Amino acid sequence: MQYYSLNGQSPPLDFKEAAIRGQAPDKGLYFPEHIPVFDSSFFHGIEKMDDREIAYQVIQPYVGESIPGKVLKRVISETINFPIPLVKLSEKIFSLEMFHGPTLAFKDVGARFMSRCFGYFSKERNQKLVVLVATSGDTGGAVANGFYDVNGVEVVILYPSGKVSSVQEKQLTTLGKNIHALEVNGNFDQCQQLVKQAFADVELNANLFLTSANSINVARWLPQQFYYFLAYKQWPDKKHPPVISIPSGNFGNICAAILAHASGLPVQHFIAACNVNDVVPEFLKTGEYRPKTTIATISNAMDVGDPNNFVRILEIFEEDISELKRILSAYSITDDETKTTIKKIYKQYHYVLDPHGAVGYLCLERFLKKDRELKGIFVETAHPVKFYDVVEPLIGAKIPLPPAVENVIDKFKVTTKMDVDYNFLRDFLFQLK
Ligand SMILES: *Cc1c(COP(=O)(O)O)cnc(C)c1O
Repeated sequence: MQYYSLNGQSPPLDFKEAAIRGQAPDKGLYFPEHIPVFDSSFFHGIEKMDDREIAYQVIQPYVGESIPGKVLKRVISETINFPIPLVKLSEKIFSLEMFHGPTLAFKDVGARFMSRCFGYFSKERNQKLVVLVATSGDTGGAVANGFYDVNGVEVVILYPSGKVSSVQEKQLTTLGKNIHALEVNGNFDQCQQLVKQAFADVELNANLFLTSANSINVARWLPQQFYYFLAYKQWPDKKHPPVISIPSGNFGNICAAILAHASGLPVQHFIAACNVNDVVPEFLKTGEYRPKTTIATISNAMDVGDPNNFVRILEIFEEDISELKRILSAYSITDDETKTTIKKIYKQYHYVLDPHGAVGYLCLERFLKKDRELKGIFVETAHPVKFYDVVEPLIGAKIPLPPAVENVIDKFKVTTKMDVDYNFLRDFLFQLK
C-alpha cells in the first residue's frame, strides 16, 4: 500500500516511510491510495472471530510489506491487551468504552500500535530511533506508556510546567527507562515551537533518527479502526446497524470510524459530537470551513479550532459534501448541557460519564429522536476519573481509582527542568545518540 500526500506535492511512500515521516514534506497528511473493502461474509462471521484476528484483517492491507505477518500479529496482540466493552444503558443506547487501556483514554490503541511498529523499524534499520513530542496533556501519557521499554526507541516529551493535571504529569514523569520528560518553564505553544525547531535542524537530523508521534501519523490513525469493528462484533441487533456518536476534537478517531465504514462496516449514521468548538458543525450547516480560535471547555481534549484530520474525511468522500452529509451529522454542546447530562445519566442509569462521553451521549440522544426505530452507540473516550474534579461534584459521589491510576499516583516524578532554550534541547537530544 502506498500513501500519497493530500497536498499533492510530495511523492507517495509505503506505510513504513509514511509512519516515520509523520507529515509529508509538503506539509500534507498521508492518505492510503485505495481503501480495502471486505465482503459481507466477513461481517456475518465476525461474532465468531477472535479480536486479534479481526484487527489483523483490518490493518494488514494498510501495512502491506512494511511489517511481516508474524511481527504484525505480535504488534496487534500487544496493542489490544485490554477489554473494549460495549455496555448497554437502555434498549436503544450503548456505550463503547475505549478507556480501559493503561492511560485511560482511547489514544492508547494508536500509541501502542505505533510504538511497536517503530520498535520493529528501528531494529530493522539497526539505529536508535528518537521520538520527540510536545504535549498539553493526554497525548504525552499515551505516548510515554506506549513506548515504555520498547527496544531501540528513546522518547523525549516536552510539557509545560504546572499546566497539565497531576494524573497526567505522573503518567509521563514516573516511567523512567527510555522515557525522558522535559519540564519546560513555558507554555504548550513554546514546547511545540522547540520541537519544530528540532525537526528543522539539519545537523541534528543527520546525526539522529528523529521522528514525531503526533496524532496525524498513519500508524496512530489507522489502528483506531479496530474499535469500530470490535464494537460491531458486540452489537446485538445486526439487522439494524448502529448510529455512532463520537466525541471529536482533531477528528482522527471519527475519521478512522468513517474509513472502517468505507471498507464495508455496517453503520447507520455517524455523529461528530463537538463541544462549543464548532468548526465542523458550522461547516455542515453553511458549507464554509472556517477555523476558529480555540475556546476552553470541560471536555478539553476536544478544544480544537482547526481539526487536522477533517481533510481526510473529505478525501474519503472525494469532496462530495452531499454524500458526506448523508452519513455524517454534527452537533455542538455547551458545558452546561454537558454537566446536566452527566447528572441526568448518573441518576437514570447509575452510569458515570466523563465530560467527553457526555457530549457524545447527548448528541446521540438528539439524533435518535428523529426516528423511533433507531438505536445507537456513543463512544466513551476517557475514564471519568481523569476528570474527577468536574464529575464528582455533579454526581455527588467519589469515583473509585482504577489500578492504572493508583499505581501511578504514588510514584516519584522525575523530570529534567529547562527554560525555553533550543540549545538545551539540542544538547539533550545529542547525548541520546
Ligand atoms: C483526543 C481525545 C478526543 C478527541 O479525539 P480526536 O481524534 O482528536 O477527535 C476526545 N476525547 C478524549 C478523552 C481525547 O483524549
